[in-house]
Amino acid sequence: MIEMQDVWKEYPNGTPALNGVSVQIGKSEFVYVVGPSGAGKSTFIKLMYREERPTRGHIFVNGFNIERLKHRKIPLLRRSIGVVFQDFKLLPNLTAAENVAFAQEVIGVPVRQTRRRVREALEWVGLADKADVLPSHLSGGEQQRIAIARALVNNPQVIIADEPTGNLDPESSWGIMKLFQRINDRGTTVVMATHNREIVNTMRKRVIAIERGQIVRDEAKGTYGYED
Ligand code: ADP
Repeated sequence: MIEMQDVWKEYPNGTPALNGVSVQIGKSEFVYVVGPSGAGKSTFIKLMYREERPTRGHIFVNGFNIERLKHRKIPLLRRSIGVVFQDFKLLPNLTAAENVAFAQEVIGVPVRQTRRRVREALEWVGLADKADVLPSHLSGGEQQRIAIARALVNNPQVIIADEPTGNLDPESSWGIMKLFQRINDRGTTVVMATHNREIVNTMRKRVIAIERGQIVRDEAKGTYGYED
């Protein structure tokens, strides 16, 4: 499903971000990616949906060879992956439903089908009643649920999240985490970078720890393992 083989990433300004990372993540796994700030977690995640390209090494995601992927094939890859960010990245002038629908229009899904998929996705995150509301009128937790609905609308095989609870209070964070658990229960692979020690230590999933661009720990039912 996701495989990295000796992946190196150096940014154009010479900053090394990943130094020889090899990992396999199978279908239906739930993986937390932990580590200090600047360790390379975001880079690890960005490489998976080809926001960044590796300097060296091989990456395969959902059958796509990331470094060989032609530009016109990137939308196909992105349709098989849902991405959720710390700062939600909702478009402020669009309603919740329009935000969820936006990506559908871009890939040319017929309007009627989009409407149905958007309704189902909003129901699934428990926000069908907020369909016509602008993001600024929603709480942080609700905005993140909308962003998750947007990530789910294409029924992706993999959901990738970069600190999805980083801007949320503890209660909203737990609500979001339960949603990711339900997503995983459907058989969708979840990969999540997080600094949320309590959640990692309670959920006991696979934990991949990154330090200075290298995987230093990879445990089933792991713990957070940092004092920060
Ligand atoms: P984390 O998500 O664990 O905080 P990142 O992957 O964001 O780590 O960063 C890893 C290293 O790469 C850091 O030294 C960071 O400063 C650097 N870095 C991240 N993005 C860029 C970029 N676009 N250009 C240059 N350096 C970057």
